[in-house]
Amino acid sequence: MDCIFCKIISGEIPCSKIYEDDLFIAFLDIRPIRKGHTLIVPKRHFESLFDTPVEESAAIYAVTAKVAAAVREATKSTGINIIQNNGADAGQEVFHSHIHIIPRSHDDGLKF
Ligand code: 5GP
Ligand code: ZN
Repeated sequence: MDCIFCKIISGEIPCSKIYEDDLFIAFLDIRPIRKGHTLIVPKRHFESLFDTPVEESAAIYAVTAKVAAAVREATKSTGINIIQNNGADAGQEVFHSHIHIIPRSHDDGLKF
């Protein structure tokens, strides 16, 4: 399957990995919206939230909370956005389900 995130998970394509366990991997986004922009990705290939088993969706939130706390500390950010794009019309570009962690500060000018 020609999936960029599956290739990262298999080690075929490098990434800046910041977390890994049996089910998930987290790495820095190659085109960060903000410094420290991180992606949490299930190791199994699911296209979006709607293809992901509920157990995996529940588990990813616990991992997201843990990684978000580490990203917040590392970037000294004062806010964090957690975003998931599901479907092309919602801005999804990589069709391997994932969650964005985006560090924020009061003067960064971003709006979501
Ligand atoms: P989406 O729009 O699908 O929610 O987000 C996909 C994200 O994956 C984008 O923010 C994009 O920058 C990131 N991305 C795409 N290809 C790569 C890659 O090869 N390596 C990494 N680290 N991130 C990628
Ligand atoms: Zn994949």
